[in-house]
Amino acid sequence: MQLSRSHTLASPLFRKILLSAFVLILATVGSADFLMTRYTEQRELELVQQDLELVGQIYRERLSGLTAEQVEDWARKADGQSGARVTIIGTDGAVLAESRRERGSMENHAQRPEVRSALKGGTGVAKRHSASLGVDFLYVAEPARTGDGKGVVLRLAVPLARVNESLRAVRWRILRASLALALLALIAAYLYTRTLTRRIRNIQSYAEGLANERLSEEPELAEGGKDELGALAGSLRGMARQLRGMVELLRVESERREAILSSMKEGVLAVDEELRVTFCNEAFLRAAGAAAEAPDHKPLVQLARNPGFLSLLRQVLASGDTVRGKLPLAPASGRSFEVYAKPLDQGAHRGALAILHDITEVERLERVRKDFVANVSHELRTPLAAIRGYAETLLDGALEDAEHNRQFLEIIRSNAIRLTNIASDLLVLSAMEQDRAEQEPAEAVEVQSVVEAALRTVESAARVRSVALLIEEQPGLRVRGQRFRLEQALVNLMDNAVKFSRAGATVKVESGMTTEGMVAIRVSDEGIGIPSEDLPRIFERFYRVDKARSREAGGTGLGLSIVKHIAEAFGGTVRVESELGKGSAFTLTFPAA
Ligand code: ADP
Repeated sequence: MQLSRSHTLASPLFRKILLSAFVLILATVGSADFLMTRYTEQRELELVQQDLELVGQIYRERLSGLTAEQVEDWARKADGQSGARVTIIGTDGAVLAESRRERGSMENHAQRPEVRSALKGGTGVAKRHSASLGVDFLYVAEPARTGDGKGVVLRLAVPLARVNESLRAVRWRILRASLALALLALIAAYLYTRTLTRRIRNIQSYAEGLANERLSEEPELAEGGKDELGALAGSLRGMARQLRGMVELLRVESERREAILSSMKEGVLAVDEELRVTFCNEAFLRAAGAAAEAPDHKPLVQLARNPGFLSLLRQVLASGDTVRGKLPLAPASGRSFEVYAKPLDQGAHRGALAILHDITEVERLERVRKDFVANVSHELRTPLAAIRGYAETLLDGALEDAEHNRQFLEIIRSNAIRLTNIASDLLVLSAMEQDRAEQEPAEAVEVQSVVEAALRTVESAARVRSVALLIEEQPGLRVRGQRFRLEQALVNLMDNAVKFSRAGATVKVESGMTTEGMVAIRVSDEGIGIPSEDLPRIFERFYRVDKARSREAGGTGLGLSIVKHIAEAFGGTVRVESELGKGSAFTLTFPAA
């Protein structure tokens, strides 16, 4: 990421570092200037002082050759030569000679510090504002003697203005050099700080990218310095790698969970303490009859209104126990569910998890089974009652009734045949259910030969009823299943067609391929037909349109339900079209082998 100048300047860190550098440079330059100036000043004064001391030594010797009267003139001359003010003071402090003023106007100098030092025998030095001349002077005083052996103090002085002048010139040079250095330092500080800020910004934006979960989009952090920032960038890169790994792991994990849950037939629902949905799969949405949208934190009551289900979950949340129940989730759908609900620990919050198992089909099968048992007993009871009744009648004396005993025996026989038919049909049905459970191996079955075999079975019955049988076949059709089952289905359909036809009618068996590539076998007749309200039920067990007629014809009401079973075992379907009084057509459709 490139930072613009304004960005750099806007950075508080940049401003702070730069300001600190600025203050530091200023303090350094200021104190260097101060110390240099002081040093130079001292050096200057020392030089001037040394000069004065040197001049003082020469003048002391000169003085030793002069009388008191000559001293004053000499002082003026000496001043003119050296440029230093010359004052000669007596041991009592009285000014004996002064090069720049009338000595009479001078006050007693005994108390001047430099004079006091000289009077004590040493060299006195002082820097002071001269009360006599009104300017700053550097004074150097030394004890001396005049020609007549009188002890005096020789004082030389130069105005400090001269020293100050040279000092100013030096100081200005120092200041210029310092300022130039400060400017250079500042530029260096600016450039360094800018680089530093940029590096920090890069790391910052990278770290923000990580925090914002833009892991995969974030370009790799280019920072590679060998300092602490470089090390920080290295740790961040390592952390990003780990994060990416973790995110990928979580993604795979959640996709796997999603796949498992969405492929589950069972509805799965998780709710929080306030019965808001935290998760649910498609099966649950389907069961609740809700639109397939993400129901994130939607109140459950908006998805499933069943009060029983809501109170079951409330019970789980309140008690913390697992609860089971059976209920219709969306009563309109007519489906019922077995619900298994248990408490769910969702971190800091409690919740509940419910698994819904659709038991509509199980319940239906249970009902069918019960109905079936009831139907079977009912179907058996009638012929059994007849057999028993007529047998008792015969035993009670009818046996001797030559007129009727044969008729009674005929009735007993026909009912026994019915019982046998029912028993054998039931056996077929149960055998088929067993086959399906055991997944009997399927073979490729030649349709043409099966149709012909079925035809031979019903031929005699057709002849008895004067019904013509007609076959229209497409050769080479094959389906996958068990041969004898297909034959059984065709026999049942053809037998019905013959049974419900009038004399002189024709029963047609056609086979061919449908446009969808399926094998279709159609058995049609010109018989009595089936009322449209009965059509949906004729494949049910024991269902007969006209019970008396069916019974008379030896029917059990199980034939079509066997056909339907067989069609399904072949992976196919059976369909009926019929018009009352005109005839019926049953079509079996199977996948081709
Ligand atoms: P059934 O042993 O009584 O023939 P099915 O299960 O084979 O039992 O048939 C059920 C009922 O469907 C029959 O009783 C009859 O009322 C009706 N049915 C079946 N096939 C035909 C057909 N081809 N024409 C008219 N009615 C039929």
